[in-house]
Parts: sequence; structure tokens; C-alpha cells
Amino acid sequence: MLTRWETWARFPLLIDIDRWAHDDEYDSFEASVQGRIDAGHPLCDSELVPAVAQALEALALCAESGSFAAALLSHASGATQDLLAVYAELGHAHMRTHHRP
Ligand SMILES: [Zn+2]
Repeated sequence: MLTRWETWARFPLLIDIDRWAHDDEYDSFEASVQGRIDAGHPLCDSELVPAVAQALEALALCAESGSFAAALLSHASGATQDLLAVYAELGHAHMRTHHRP
């Protein structure tokens, strides 16, 4: 079982991953996630890359275990599998577009 302290230790960047997802400034869920990613640019190596890695790790563990998925949501209520998948996809796209020679 994923405990609260383990969530904070292993997935610190997922705790408030939905911080902007409910902001009325954005027309869609995807646009809000994109807005958060873009706001961190160009310092993406310090937050975006590790956050994408944490999102992918969590998604893999959620796919293996429903109890992990439930525990993750109980400690990081915004870390839905939908949000993690969108964040990982848009994060990869951002890195491909802006951080390759
Ligand atoms: Zn960037």
C-alpha cells in the first residue's frame, strides 16, 4: 500500500499536478496542462522532466495495481490517470519541440 509519506517522497511533483487544471483562464483541460508546462520553460530540466518521469512511473504502477491507483489518489487527489497521461504526452511533445538541437 502506498502511504502518504511514500507519495511525498517518491512522487513529490504529482502532489499538486492539477494546480492549473481547474483555472477558468483556460478553455480546456489540455490547454491548462499545456499552460503549466509552458510557464516552466526554459527551466524544464528542473521540473518538467522529473514530473514526466514521475507521471510515467505512477501510470505504470496504476496499470498494475488498482490499490496503488486508489492510494495515489487519496494522497494526491489531482493525480488522476487521465491527467498523468495528458501531462506525460504534452511534456514529451514540449521537450521534443523546444529542447533538442
Ligand atoms: Zn521547455
